[in-house]
Amino acid sequence: MDLKSRLNDPTLFKTDSYIKGEWVGAQTRFQVINPANMAPLAEVADIEAEGAHKAVKAAHQAFQSWKKVSPFEREVLIQRWHDLILENKDDLATLLTSEMGKPFEEAKGEIDYGAGFVTWSAQEAKRLYGETIPVQRAGTRGWTIRQPVGVVGCITPWNFPAAMITRKCAPALAAGCTIVIKPAEDTPLTALALAELADRAGFPPGVFNMITGEAKEIGPVLTGSDDVAMIGFTGSTEVGKLLMEQAAKGVKRVALELGGNAPFIIMDDADLDKAVAGVIHSKFRAGGQTCVCANRIIVQEGVADAFLAKLKPAIEAVKVGDGFDRDVKIGPVIHLEALERIEDLVRDAQDHGGTVLSGGHSLRARLGGAFFEPTLIEGASSASKIWNSEIFGPVASVYRAKDEADILAMANNTPYGLAAYVYTRDIGRVYRLSEGLDYGMVAVNAPSVGSPATPFGGVKQSGIGREGGKWGVEEFTNLKFVLLGDVE
Ligand code: NAP
Repeated sequence: MDLKSRLNDPTLFKTDSYIKGEWVGAQTRFQVINPANMAPLAEVADIEAEGAHKAVKAAHQAFQSWKKVSPFEREVLIQRWHDLILENKDDLATLLTSEMGKPFEEAKGEIDYGAGFVTWSAQEAKRLYGETIPVQRAGTRGWTIRQPVGVVGCITPWNFPAAMITRKCAPALAAGCTIVIKPAEDTPLTALALAELADRAGFPPGVFNMITGEAKEIGPVLTGSDDVAMIGFTGSTEVGKLLMEQAAKGVKRVALELGGNAPFIIMDDADLDKAVAGVIHSKFRAGGQTCVCANRIIVQEGVADAFLAKLKPAIEAVKVGDGFDRDVKIGPVIHLEALERIEDLVRDAQDHGGTVLSGGHSLRARLGGAFFEPTLIEGASSASKIWNSEIFGPVASVYRAKDEADILAMANNTPYGLAAYVYTRDIGRVYRLSEGLDYGMVAVNAPSVGSPATPFGGVKQSGIGREGGKWGVEEFTNLKFVLLGDVE
């Protein structure tokens, strides 16, 4: 069945770019592929650098009035966008599963999660408070105000085609910024449907723009234009560094949500059943393709055998297949290149002392798409690729460690610092490990860490800035100090 006919509202299915309130096509188009069967889904406009310039100009013009719109009015529009997103949840999830592959129920969960940031930001628009500050000289007064930074260039990845857009765009709009979004080329359909819903919500033309096309053409327009004040990027550390370098020329603000290499620590006093359930959730969400997925599962040696004995059958019970099939927990990985990269990681882990306890193979031949078996590996050395890089696939890699000091040293032995997980029932360990882990977020006895109310972001090479909560909105503001003299 063709994708459009699977949607209740086929008018959500857009393939052109959205600039200044209009849908803009292009002669050149690129294909979007369903990774579950490699069938083409759509051809999307490549609007090239020229289109990106148009979008920036529109956003810059619109900023002059949007920044003056009352936060209460901004709240109404953003909340309307939120309501439309939830009203169209099934259709958005259909697009998402088709182009990204994650199971349909999980895709619906992403729409809920992403919408949560929209409603939170809508409400936060009117809470961007300043402060009054006692100043030294008698007769003077001082206070701060928060003002929107300006036009934000938002560049987003394919692994959360909806939520990575809403998590940065909604707070930017709430702060009074206008936006130009470039979604990932693998997953533009969910993104463009969100733009269609923004159009229906009634944002003034130019406030919300979405452009599709070649990253290498569009990126430099966003980082190089004097009319863009800030780059909000979610993606790999490699591309984040490149954008930061480009933005540095204009001393542009950057907010970077980059890669991770999450340790998932299981201490010898942990509840092993909960730890196993935690690993299954954290490791296999989105087929193992999230920045906060358990990447290095570090188990204290006294419980390692017992833990592996429980983990192995749990992994073998996870069903792989097309995300639209009921019971499927793991869909395909994003494309065939990713599949080959995972095969290489597994081979390299074996070359570095790792033993494959379960799985280990591509399912491309059997299932027809970019599928990989849920896999369990134990004991690869810290020289292996699997220890040092984001796995981004359904492969659980387990390591044994002696004691707390050993575990902390292992966990911090990476240039990344996004999320870490600890399973323990000892309150002293909770304090010592959560404070000792060089990560932006630590979850204790919980397998996930993000929510609309809380700060999400990393340290070290995992990024700069925070998304979520009041911090996520403040990120898109400048703090201005006003001094008033001679008032007495
Ligand atoms: P990516 O290759 O860095 O791409 C991310 C975005 O950047 C895409 O829109 C991509 O466009 C664009 N891009 C690529 N090269 C560019 C360039 N030279 N100039 C401007 N833009 C460029 O990452 P990905 O493979 O999509 O996503 C996976 C990565 O994202 C992982 O490292 C993951 O950890 C990270 N991530 C981090 C978070 C977080 O919150 N910290 C959340 C989700 C994902 P094209 O698609 O058109 O190439």
